Amino acid sequence: MRKIHLFGNWKMNMLSQETDSFFTILAERLTQSPDLCLAVFPPSVYLERSRRSIVELGIADKVSLGVQNVYHEDKGAFTGEISPSMALDLGASYAILGHSERRSLFGETSEFVGRKVSFCFQKGLRPVLCVGETLEDRDKGLAWSVVEEQLSKGLLDLSDPSGLLVAYEPVWAIGTGRSASKEDAQGMCCDIRNWLAKKYDVRDIPVLYGGSVKPENAGEFFSTEDIDGALVGGASLNPKSFLDMIP
Ligand code: 13P
Repeated sequence: MRKIHLFGNWKMNMLSQETDSFFTILAERLTQSPDLCLAVFPPSVYLERSRRSIVELGIADKVSLGVQNVYHEDKGAFTGEISPSMALDLGASYAILGHSERRSLFGETSEFVGRKVSFCFQKGLRPVLCVGETLEDRDKGLAWSVVEEQLSKGLLDLSDPSGLLVAYEPVWAIGTGRSASKEDAQGMCCDIRNWLAKKYDVRDIPVLYGGSVKPENAGEFFSTEDIDGALVGGASLNPKSFLDMIP
């Protein structure tokens, strides 16, 4: 059976005490499941604290950590940035790259995201490449061409995709309470899988859906053929609702 990936992107939320209490509650209820891949992406300033928590609570083998962004250099004069080596050093296994908020609020282009994807691979940090169209793109019938461009530029320099994950996050579904329909999300994730299969000749790169996923609708997405899990924002901040999404 395929693994379901449940990834919680905290974005710019949670302070020290909330981080501690999240992991304490998570540890009380979390059981081992071989078919589940669970990861939390706290703000990078709380990565070390998160790692300490999961180690002390004895759940480091059940939950992984990731960062929400990195820069494509190892070190140097890049004020405000963090490198993949720093993220790895503090216990991260994954990096979210090309999130729509980074693209729209911080001007990240697909080419720039592509440089980060290659650099993460070089360093051994697994990228979660986010792609997704705006409502305007969708209304104009451009959803696939936007996603395809984000994929082709984001993965331009990548010859071996082992370790890659892709998250389809339509911009109009993020933080709006209006998720994509199961059919639309499945359709796009299937197109992404076919595109990846054509480029790399493999069909097992995990493709996640993100955008207003919550306990009430997570199961629907996980029941489809091509959605291998969810990248969850708002509903991942509460450990009970995060756990309630586990199939
Ligand atoms: P929401 O689950 O809050 O819609 O956010 C989705 C997201 O952007 C995850 O990266």
